[in-house]
Amino acid sequence: MNNKVAYAEVEQDDNNENIFPFCPVCGKATMELDEEENGKVTGCKHLEFIYVQEVNEFEYKSDQFKDRFNSIDFDEFELDNLKTTLETIGYTNSLLALEVTTNSIACGPSAFTSVFGFNYTN
Ligand SMILES: [Zn+2]
Repeated sequence: MNNKVAYAEVEQDDNNENIFPFCPVCGKATMELDEEENGKVTGCKHLEFIYVQEVNEFEYKSDQFKDRFNSIDFDEFELDNLKTTLETIGYTNSLLALEVTTNSIACGPSAFTSVFGFNYTN
């Protein structure tokens, strides 16, 4: 039995279209842009969390994720230990974490990274 969280890293270019991933279980968009081009979470029940590295914060946490995550010391947390943190708080290979790095050339080359967690057992 594999108890490791499934973790995938992908890179994409910002093409001014929907840059947010879709749920691999049911196909729903995780986020959409509103009229002011702000991302708004539209996730389905499989969406466990959305982590934004730029601010080192979770944009979205499911109730289950909140309960589990509250049991650890957030000060110790950063992107580099996200996978091990997820395993520490009890997630297994039914969780897929998709680390998406988006390359943008809007104001000079830059990149930002977000991680989307999907729980196949939800
Ligand atoms: Zn879904």
